[in-house]
Amino acid sequence: MKNPFHVMIIPTLGCPGRCKYCWSSDVNSPKMTLATAEAIVRWLEPLQDQRVTFTFHGGEPLLAGPEFYREVLPMIEKRLPHLSPEFAMQTNLWLMTDELAEILSSHHVPLGSSIDGPKDLTDYQRGDDYFERTLAGYRTATAHGLLVRFICTFTNSSVERKEEIVEFFRSQGWGMKLHPALPSLKGDNPNEWTLSPTEYGELLVYLLDAALANPDDLEIMNINDLCRCVFTRSGCVCTYADCMGTTFAIGPNGDIYPCYRFVGMPEWVMGNVHDAPTVEMLMQTQAGVRMLAFKDHVDSACKDCAHINYCRGGCPYNALAGDADASGVDPHCVAYKRIFDEITARMEAEMQAAPAVPAGARVSRVRRKEKPGVMMLMRKIVEK
Ligand code: SF4
Ligand code: SF4
Repeated sequence: MKNPFHVMIIPTLGCPGRCKYCWSSDVNSPKMTLATAEAIVRWLEPLQDQRVTFTFHGGEPLLAGPEFYREVLPMIEKRLPHLSPEFAMQTNLWLMTDELAEILSSHHVPLGSSIDGPKDLTDYQRGDDYFERTLAGYRTATAHGLLVRFICTFTNSSVERKEEIVEFFRSQGWGMKLHPALPSLKGDNPNEWTLSPTEYGELLVYLLDAALANPDDLEIMNINDLCRCVFTRSGCVCTYADCMGTTFAIGPNGDIYPCYRFVGMPEWVMGNVHDAPTVEMLMQTQAGVRMLAFKDHVDSACKDCAHINYCRGGCPYNALAGDADASGVDPHCVAYKRIFDEITARMEAEMQAAPAVPAGARVSRVRRKEKPGVMMLMRKIVEK
């Protein structure tokens, strides 16, 4: 993974949007105070030297306002230099202003936002005017030099239009990150939009082919990540790595959870930053023990799977929230196996078919004739 230690800061669960499949907003949520933000920094000061990513998430993190970020970003940088802090933010961009963009830009905060495809499709899934409001924020953010990438959520409805969605991202020149509509532990009908594991697996294979067919003008980040996982034989995003003990989310009042997806659920509170608990103390709480139990469970449930080292049973939250089968791992196991098998098979076939390079031959001439394949994609990722 980029930085193994990951702190997610959730300044509020409030959000002005009303996306139909979102289970992580709460209109009555309070906003994090500067005192709580300072307590986060104090809590992390004793941590040993290592690289830490701080992701501002929500709800909608821009609701915290410019004063919050003007204080908090430099406070983290100045008081936690031994953690070489890197920042990120996940936002719908509706509240982006020149002032906020300037603050975020001066601290090099890359932004992730969400657009599900063409305007009609995005507004159908995310509510009227979502598309235009996000696009307006995008223009403000990029005018200040901020990097913005879009997550595209595929639901059981939008997957029917996958060709159109991919073409939309390609024609806009936007990097695309796929997010399948996921089951939730919250809400009355949390599976209404969920993509089935089989559909998700087929979608991943479709996107692999789309990425390979458009190597110069379509970047699908999940496909890059999945290829990297197989190639390096280690999980390079949280879903395919053991996140327990290295990822924590801090809710608006300073409560600590195993991940942003648990924020607001009292049974998943591990402690509070104002009490400055150690990581060991957090992992001894009921929530910590449940997370560690998942890791142990994967070691036995997935022990015969060829992909265990770079899948690790998938996401523990999904395993808890979904209709997991008897294996008790992430119900998207079917999809993960499908795409990992596909990438492995193609990689092996390409390696076997690769022409032997005679001594002294110019490798670049050999590569130029090569058909786009996963090995070519890997080389592009490494060169980047
Ligand atoms: S619970 Fe799932 S989403 Fe959260 S950090 Fe772990 S793998 Fe990632
Ligand atoms: S693909 Fe399935 S069986 Fe294999 S490690 Fe992942 S969750 Fe376990």
